[in-house]
Amino acid sequence: MRHDGGMSSPRPLVDSFNRRITYLRLSVTDRCDLRCSYCMPERMEFLPRKDVLSLEELHELALGFIERGVSKIRITGGEPLVRRDVLELIRALGRKVGDGLEELTLTTNGTQLAQHADDLAAAGVRRVNVSLDTLDPALFERISRRDRLADVLEGVAAARAAGLGVKINTVALKGLNEAELPEIVAWAHGRGYDATLIEVMPLGEVEGDRVDHYLPLSEVRDRLERRWTLTSTADRTGGPARYVDIAETGGRLGFITPLTNNFCDGCNRVRVTATGQLYACLGGAEMVDLRAALRSDDPDARLAAALDTAMRIKPERHHFQIDRRGADPAQPRHMSVTGG
Ligand code: SAM
Ligand code: SF4
Repeated sequence: MRHDGGMSSPRPLVDSFNRRITYLRLSVTDRCDLRCSYCMPERMEFLPRKDVLSLEELHELALGFIERGVSKIRITGGEPLVRRDVLELIRALGRKVGDGLEELTLTTNGTQLAQHADDLAAAGVRRVNVSLDTLDPALFERISRRDRLADVLEGVAAARAAGLGVKINTVALKGLNEAELPEIVAWAHGRGYDATLIEVMPLGEVEGDRVDHYLPLSEVRDRLERRWTLTSTADRTGGPARYVDIAETGGRLGFITPLTNNFCDGCNRVRVTATGQLYACLGGAEMVDLRAALRSDDPDARLAAALDTAMRIKPERHHFQIDRRGADPAQPRHMSVTGG
């Protein structure tokens, strides 16, 4: 595929609500070495390997997005670091940082970060998001169904030692890590990491009912405000996060509240699964198949047309709800498939 931009410069990606799409979340695998109970069942059925894009195809795709004005790419999954040779892709995309790409980042569960932190930094990654729901080994095993907290903590420390900025992402879970949330925030800020709390979202079937552990972040924020001085900041990242500065910890805390608030108006992102399906909204079914475009006789034209279609079908907002016990998930796709 040609990536010289041709004679005329390619059109930027603008959807039908006039939102400019500059941020791609690219899933490189739906597989994972953990089984977080709110994310997937123990016996998760993974995508057939033959359907998954090769690293070369993922690279082509990413270049196609960069050509259309995407300036930030987050590599995600599943667990991106379980994909063999993923560092090759990250190195290749790292070479685009400063040459079309402003930022290349990664979301990881951290279990394998200790082995890869130096290579990620050398490849041009500056920041990583590490998902960590508890600092208690027994609770970690209960939530993720694996006894891996020590590896994650080692991974986080290695990321810091490699000079990577670290953000800790924590899903707020009623009756599980609920009481520990202030401690996790203080722990993160004490080490110079940003922290973000996330509301559990109804994506894909899991064992049990997510309603049991759904904790609205408005409640969490009220409780934190009784303990600390929170000052809202104007920062927006085009996502559903709102940020506060905490005077006592000296750190910044994000709240991702897709359920109690709706911040779709400024959405700047799309997601691509490891099999090349572009989902225009995390909470919607609107999809275009980029793999078919990539594997066609005329990938340049087909990919351009597919991206144009994606801009036309991107919905104005999601319609998540998690207030009904026994309700079907808002989307049958797990977050690990769409790319969190
Ligand atoms: N495995 C990597 C990780 O855990 O960071 C990357 C993929 S994971 C799907 C990305 C993020 O999605 C994690 O922070 C995880 O906690 C979050 N997540 C997964 N399922 C979720 C759900 N149903 N609701 C809210 N967040 C979810
Ligand atoms: Fe794996 Fe991330 Fe899902 Fe946990 S949240 S099971 S680490 S993909």
